[in-house]
Amino acid sequence: MNLLVVEDERTIANQLKQLLEKERYRCDVSYTYHDATKLIDEKRYDLILLDWNLPDGDGLTLLSLLRKEGIATPVLMLSANTEIDDRVKVLDAGGDDYLCKPYSNIELLARIRALLRRETPQKNTILTCAGLKLDTSSREVSVDGKPIKLSLSEFDLLEILLQNKNIVLTRYQLNEHLSQDYNSLKFSNIVDVHIKNLRKKIGLDDCITTVRGVGYSIKD
Ligand code: CA
Repeated sequence: MNLLVVEDERTIANQLKQLLEKERYRCDVSYTYHDATKLIDEKRYDLILLDWNLPDGDGLTLLSLLRKEGIATPVLMLSANTEIDDRVKVLDAGGDDYLCKPYSNIELLARIRALLRRETPQKNTILTCAGLKLDTSSREVSVDGKPIKLSLSEFDLLEILLQNKNIVLTRYQLNEHLSQDYNSLKFSNIVDVHIKNLRKKIGLDDCITTVRGVGYSIKD
């Protein structure tokens, strides 16, 4: 799988490259709009991670240009803008997904996997496991058809576990995903507390597995 990272902040770009290569993706980096268009002309990519604000142009214009030229490579837009309007702009310009900075690595990797395995242009928003059903767009959760109410953090935790089904996520990764406060990460047991509450609310005893000394996983 060939990925292209378009990001002008070199530290972020290089961290992304490292992260992706650790996951065995091949990864090119371009720091500018101009370089990105050159690379896209020369090579075929399976996915483009595209920063919104570039020094010599903006990602949205680049995205529109690609689509106008008939290049259908999935594009995951990365941006510090959180406005709903911006999401709409990205989707209207032909983008496939949108992630706000700061984002957690596990969330980014889950979105990348989803985009790479996607076969239809429609995004599936329903995640399931046994009798458990979570709708990422309406943010509704049900167990055996019965709706249950989760807190914001519980929902986020359950969503990321379901997006990474059968993969063990470490406490640190989950903590990072929830808090995005890097200073408090090592000392917090917040994940364990939320998991305990989640298990109580879901009621499906063995749905969330504890991997002792490591973290948690949801298994089929
Ligand atoms: Ca930027």
